[in-house]
Amino acid sequence: MTTSEVSDEDFQEILTQTRHFVHTAVIPREQEILAGDRVPDDLRDQAKKMGLFGYAIPQQWGGLGLNLSQDVELAMELGYTTLALRSMFGTNNGIAGQVLVGFGTDEQKQRWLEPMATGEAVASFALTEPGAGSNPSGLRTKAVADGTDWVITGQKRFITNAPTADLFVVFARTRPADDDGPGIAVFLVPADAAGVQVGAKDAKMGQEGAWTADVSFDDVRVPAEALVGGSEDIGYRAAMISLARGRVHIAALAVGSAQRALDESVAYAATATQGGTPIGNFQLVQAMIADQQTGVSAGRALVRDAARQWVSGEDRRVAPSVAKLFCTEMVGQVADLAVQIHGGSGYMREVPVERIYREVRLLRLYEGTSEIQRLIIGSNLVKTAQRERG
Ligand SMILES: Cc1cc2nc3c(=O)[nH]c(=O)nc-3n(C[C@H](O)[C@H](O)[C@H](O)COP(=O)(O)OP(=O)(O)OC[C@H]3O[C@@H](n4cnc5c(N)ncnc54)[C@H](O)[C@@H]3O)c2cc1C
Repeated sequence: MTTSEVSDEDFQEILTQTRHFVHTAVIPREQEILAGDRVPDDLRDQAKKMGLFGYAIPQQWGGLGLNLSQDVELAMELGYTTLALRSMFGTNNGIAGQVLVGFGTDEQKQRWLEPMATGEAVASFALTEPGAGSNPSGLRTKAVADGTDWVITGQKRFITNAPTADLFVVFARTRPADDDGPGIAVFLVPADAAGVQVGAKDAKMGQEGAWTADVSFDDVRVPAEALVGGSEDIGYRAAMISLARGRVHIAALAVGSAQRALDESVAYAATATQGGTPIGNFQLVQAMIADQQTGVSAGRALVRDAARQWVSGEDRRVAPSVAKLFCTEMVGQVADLAVQIHGGSGYMREVPVERIYREVRLLRLYEGTSEIQRLIIGSNLVKTAQRERG
């Protein structure tokens, strides 16, 4: 694998260990996670020991240093079980961590990436606000310079890992949008800074054990060193690049969840009977399984290709959106078919496909809805054609 700090051989070892962890330690406890709405501390500790809180953080800063092609292989394993497991360290490796990896100063990386990589610190990505989700350039959180400090005021919502965060990567406006750009900077705000308030845990449709909450910033004072990259103009670009990379990862998670839904469906169809006949012998059930398998195979190929294009630098704009759009819609259909194949049992709590059906619904919403992915794909293709015609 090119441009990775990790050799193929070492990576295979990481992948094997992760698969083993998922299958032997996490899958048997899915019901406990669901019922308790938390990932048990011993699983969190095991994930820390395995380096999972920092798998996509460079080795220089204490992480495992996987590139995106390796990241998606890991994500397809993690997607096989409750998505709360991945969510616990998803923001450190993904949307929050990659802002620091790509745009932080060396001092900022040293201060934060090292504890994030070990799992000692959890970072949250705080972009979305009421009225500024799909269109984050309309965000209203403000950062005002006061001497060398910045004073941040505003309201964020649906922030993953906010209840456990040590650090908020906060996007805030330092000036109105103008011809030079959207006027959005990004700041590193410790969760214990005066004026930071985390709201009650949101009650969600699914992904029990993964927590989100509102976060408010009320005259939160941070020093000049909190401004990521030391520049006011980095914020919006950092958010867009981090989200684009995250989309390939989310697509891979979707493939992992779809594979699980397929495996559960095949196992059920092979054994459950009607009138003494295994339901898998009915051709209409076989057709549903065939559609599931076709989606999973296509999704896996697409994710690998998008990751390859990201790593080589060939396409970091359209391919991530194509992969996220296809794979998250695909897993929605595969999970729906899985419930159908299970009949009434598929509607019952404690049956894995019921959990998967609810969990994967989120994948079409966050890190850009399916509509936003379509807009990115369509507008980029048209703009490229227009540029080429002069
Ligand atoms: C569980 C969960 C975890 C999350 N975690 C985080 C996090 O960690 N950090 C963070 O910053 N955010 C997070 N989010 C926020 C998430 O990214 C947003 O909810 C998402 O981007 C959609 O924004 P919105 O909720 O404001 O919906 P809206 O943008 O209001 O969308 C509503 C509908 O309008 C459509 N729409 C909007 N604009 C357009 C347009 N221009 N053209 C066509 N259709 C359009 C959308 O596609 C959608 O169908 C999370 C959300 C959830 C639910």
